[in-house]
Amino acid sequence: MIRKILNKVDCGKELAPDEIKSLLEISDADDLQALYDCAYRVKERHVGKVAYFRGIIECSNICIKDCYYCGIRKSNRNVERFQMDEDEIIREAIWAFENEYGSAVIQSGERKDAAYIDMIERVVRTIKEKTDGKLGITLSLGEQTEETYRRWREAGAHRYLLRIETTNPELYKKLHPADHSLEERKRCLTLLKKTGWQVGTGVMMGLPGQTMQDLTDDILFMKEIDIDMVGMGPYIPHRDTPMGQEIPPYTDAQKQAALTLGLKMIALIRIVLKDINIAAATALQALEHTGREMGLQCGANVIMPNVTETEYRPNYTLYDNKPCTDENSSMCRGCLTARITGIGETIGFNEWGDSRHYFKRT
Ligand code: SAM
Ligand code: SF4
Repeated sequence: MIRKILNKVDCGKELAPDEIKSLLEISDADDLQALYDCAYRVKERHVGKVAYFRGIIECSNICIKDCYYCGIRKSNRNVERFQMDEDEIIREAIWAFENEYGSAVIQSGERKDAAYIDMIERVVRTIKEKTDGKLGITLSLGEQTEETYRRWREAGAHRYLLRIETTNPELYKKLHPADHSLEERKRCLTLLKKTGWQVGTGVMMGLPGQTMQDLTDDILFMKEIDIDMVGMGPYIPHRDTPMGQEIPPYTDAQKQAALTLGLKMIALIRIVLKDINIAAATALQALEHTGREMGLQCGANVIMPNVTETEYRPNYTLYDNKPCTDENSSMCRGCLTARITGIGETIGFNEWGDSRHYFKRT
């Protein structure tokens, strides 16, 4: 039955929801490999065997939100809070540019104060000026107003990542305090489209209580809202969070299960959404040293090497055992480049590597 469904994919046919769910439920090792190989063929056909680098700058761990899973949630008193100054963010973006990364991603906790919004706008403008417009800029700065999205877009950033986290309303409620809203999250994704961004979303996989039906619905949601990019990863507990305190640290078997689920989701999203960009999340590497390369082999085509100054990295710990926190940007570039070329892919140095889907839908 699995081979029959994968055959359908090879013939270019759409999958029904129950077929997507059946593929997500695969546990047999040969079937899993067949799924990954099939997703890789779809990737080769639609986006090629090129991995694009986006240097990620984690510019502040100050956050007004309190998501129950996240290590930098506002109630975690064990985090030393930091905010990089403008020059530091710009310097790291220029480092990414000079090291031939086509793009940078600026990410932080969520902040809506005017000073922060103005600062991001100035930073984006300056990076664009200093790189002659050549460095692509992605933002991942949470829920904002339509005006803010418009201002940041006009300043020169052009891609925005905002994970929906889960589309199951009950599960969403369990993950967030009462002042967070799934509807608002969806509205923000609509605003991002309206204000002209290439829009990315994603979910966490392996959340307590999450079912394969939930993940199937998440994939169908991404298809329905016609998303351009996906950045998603396995949920990994953080000891200083309400969710993390209820879950003991993962055993090796749990890590393996979380990794497999992460890879299956990448494969399924590649199969269903075909020509979008899919990032192999750093969280995959927290579960397995070569997790990100495995993600590329299952259908992902974007990697986000950390270009944040090493001194800040330990304070941007979203989950326990986050990798690369004691490395510097050059080490990240070197080891990723070697590992990616080692699996037979090329790296799209100096290229933005925009979502092909975005150009088709606009
Ligand atoms: N504050 C912005 C937001 O929430 O959209 C951007 C930064 S936030 C740290 C980026 C992503 O980290 C979230 O969308 C969430 O999925 C992920 N994240 C947070 N805690 C995590 C955990 N314990 N395991 C895996 N991913 C986590
Ligand atoms: Fe803040 Fe984002 Fe973490 Fe939620 S996931 S607490 S919004 S940084």
